[in-house]
Amino acid sequence: MSKANPVESAAPVEATSAMPIGLCMPEIRGNEWKYVKDCLDTNWVSSVGPYVDRFEADMTRYVGTKHAVATVTGTAALHTALLVAGVKPDDEVLVSTLTFIAPVNAIRYVGAWPLFIDAEPMYWQMDANQIADFLDKGCVWVDGTVRNKSTGRRVKAILPVHILGHPVDMDPILGLARKFGLVVIEDATEGLGAKYRGRKVGHLGDIGCFSFNGNKIITTGGGGMIVTDNGAWAAKAKHLTTQAKDDPTEFIHGEIGYNYRLTNLQAAVGCAQLELIEAYIASKRLIAARYTENLGVVPGLTPMQEAPWASSTFWMFTLLVDRACYGQDARSLLRLLAANRIQARPLWQPSHRSPAHHYCGTSNCPVSEHLNSVAISLPCSVGLTSPAQKKVIELIAAANTR
Ligand SMILES: *Cc1c(COP(=O)(O)O)cnc(C)c1O
Repeated sequence: MSKANPVESAAPVEATSAMPIGLCMPEIRGNEWKYVKDCLDTNWVSSVGPYVDRFEADMTRYVGTKHAVATVTGTAALHTALLVAGVKPDDEVLVSTLTFIAPVNAIRYVGAWPLFIDAEPMYWQMDANQIADFLDKGCVWVDGTVRNKSTGRRVKAILPVHILGHPVDMDPILGLARKFGLVVIEDATEGLGAKYRGRKVGHLGDIGCFSFNGNKIITTGGGGMIVTDNGAWAAKAKHLTTQAKDDPTEFIHGEIGYNYRLTNLQAAVGCAQLELIEAYIASKRLIAARYTENLGVVPGLTPMQEAPWASSTFWMFTLLVDRACYGQDARSLLRLLAANRIQARPLWQPSHRSPAHHYCGTSNCPVSEHLNSVAISLPCSVGLTSPAQKKVIELIAAANTR
């Protein structure tokens, strides 16, 4: 600090006491500096390098799949997964409507159409009963493929999104996929480290996708990963994400590829982050337990649940606000938190309501719409201190006006 007058030198202290409490911030406390320095010292900064290979290998070990292919974002991973799984233009893909919009956009990138599936009310994940209903009543078999009766299009895949760190109830969905010959592409971008009946999310369907965006449980700044046991699909994913070079010296490209590679610099951060993921998950679960204990007793507040068959990471801690019992609604509580410089947010607009996907017509997904109006996500960074969390808890508990 240089030549500050007394007024100026007082300022940072004031700023600290009124520090905003972030929603879900990156946690950098491991080997990130060391590994990034190694990249810079060795000049391996770009899209090939030892950390890319290591990050892929580390992810296969962590998730349990045979293969992993690093990508520049989670959205790129989803786009590539849809391509390698054989989803074609004018196919239809069953997808969770209550999700961040990326998987729905990716379905459109390949020219296919989303069919929106509502959430179940207990854990807020994709509802297998609705899928069964649609496949049993809304579809017919034509020449060995399942077609949507009302559009005549082929139904090709199911894309469950494990939201908020909790797994989707996958067994019924996998059963339906087998019965109707559909591929299962998991959007596990919010679920790294979560388990379903003892198995890691991302290794439940045919192919899975992760994200290492800044607010995910581990980050590379930006990045993604495709995981699968299917060797041919993994090879194809690697090929497509590196511009589909058939002959790299003569620049022969047999099809249209993409520049979707993760850099060695980013992968170096990813390797360091993955080393600490179990500690990060433990922090998330502790934060969730404290919220649940202290806010679960406030009339009108319902914390997110963990299913008996699940091990959730509680990546994004979320609760429901019942205006009649609590005295104010979720949006007014969000305003109160914002006024106190506490970052919180509602759940996403359900995708079937999104202006970007207006063509989908009149999907009926009442559970997602209800959750969108009553849910709020609270600060749950791995590094959230217990005094900061106490401040959030006390503010919310005191705001109950009934
Ligand atoms: C974060 C996220 C993605 C992908 O995110 P990128 O920012 O592209 O890495 C995809 N789906 C869901 C549900 C997500 O939350």
